[in-house]
Amino acid sequence: MTARLDPDRDSAPWWEAVDRGELLLQRCTACGVPRFPARALCNRCRSRDSDWIPARGTGAVYSWIVNHQRFMPNLPVPYAVVCVRLDEGEDILMYGNLVDEAGNAADPATLVPGLRLRAVLIDGLVQWTPAE
Ligand SMILES: [Zn+2]
Repeated sequence: MTARLDPDRDSAPWWEAVDRGELLLQRCTACGVPRFPARALCNRCRSRDSDWIPARGTGAVYSWIVNHQRFMPNLPVPYAVVCVRLDEGEDILMYGNLVDEAGNAADPATLVPGLRLRAVLIDGLVQWTPAE
């Protein structure tokens, strides 16, 4: 089941890339700093100029929650939603479900701060699986 936010002016290129199976980051073309989520202005230099670069798709667990509430009948619980600090920058955080190699909910008990994860794009969403 896919549940995601509606794209807006700044995030539309990111969602279009995810739909193609690509993970991108917006980058300021004035100072070169990548940023996520997409926005009109660079936090560092205030430039409005940007482009899109491929993300490595790797990072480390910064935080997580474990959901035990069954919000949707076909979504098994418990499942973990992780906050991942991407390797491109310590202020670049992405969220997604923790999944195994097959895309099923992974055991939240495996989570520890700093655990290495890699992105997997499933059904138009970015999810995360242990990198090793
Ligand atoms: Zn900048």
